[in-house]
Amino acid sequence: MHVKALPMRWKSGDNYCYVLTDDETSKSWLIDPAYPDDIVDYLKHENKTEITAIVNTHHHYDHAGGNGTLLKTLYRNVPVIAGKQSPFVSYTPSHQEVIQLGSNVEITALHTPCHTQDSICYFAQDKKTGQMGVFTGDTLFISGCGRFFEGTDPEMIKALGTLMKLPDKTVVYNGHEYTKSNVRFSKSVLGTQNQALNKLEEYCKTHEVTTGVFTIGDEKKFNPFVRLTDPNVKLATGVSEPTEVMAKLRSMKNNF
Ligand SMILES: [Zn+2]
Repeated sequence: MHVKALPMRWKSGDNYCYVLTDDETSKSWLIDPAYPDDIVDYLKHENKTEITAIVNTHHHYDHAGGNGTLLKTLYRNVPVIAGKQSPFVSYTPSHQEVIQLGSNVEITALHTPCHTQDSICYFAQDKKTGQMGVFTGDTLFISGCGRFFEGTDPEMIKALGTLMKLPDKTVVYNGHEYTKSNVRFSKSVLGTQNQALNKLEEYCKTHEVTTGVFTIGDEKKFNPFVRLTDPNVKLATGVSEPTEVMAKLRSMKNNF
């Protein structure tokens, strides 16, 4: 399989749309194509694949806002796979439902309610090459997580726990390029001795795009939101019970 990341609304929202393709058949999912104007040139002229579904990680406008336009223009007969609140949704997979894409790619829908109640992450595995990737929307960011707009602290603990159970080599494709600012916050919490975080910081100095590079294994090392029992995290938050740590971390990040 291969994944093409398409930046949208760059420098104001730093959104990502993704084209996930099964190499053998060129069948593809178009994930979170929120701003058609920003990606239509690529889709019309450079994309050599066949889009078989529009897919949303959640209903927010900056992820699902392009569905209507794309259904009217480029992709008249494709289904919209998303949570029930997305505009023009035609199919909502259940938690852990597996959907086949082309010959070799198997995609597992993972319900991760918290940022929104309809948040779904999509774990893609290429059965032929062994590649693995997960599209996390606004649930998991590189060294961060989304705000809890429609959910609770325990729900985010559960959602991130679901993602951390994926194989360590799973590549993370997140909804926004927020890594640089996340790293600043994570350093303030994890300290300066976290080697994985220091490496991520170095990477950010020379790369504008960090999606599709780091893995679930990396997140376990450099993301404070999945390290609730890390002594540095407890020290920074001043609490130790995981739900309280999560609540405090989120409010610290919101005010950072
Ligand atoms: Zn969102």
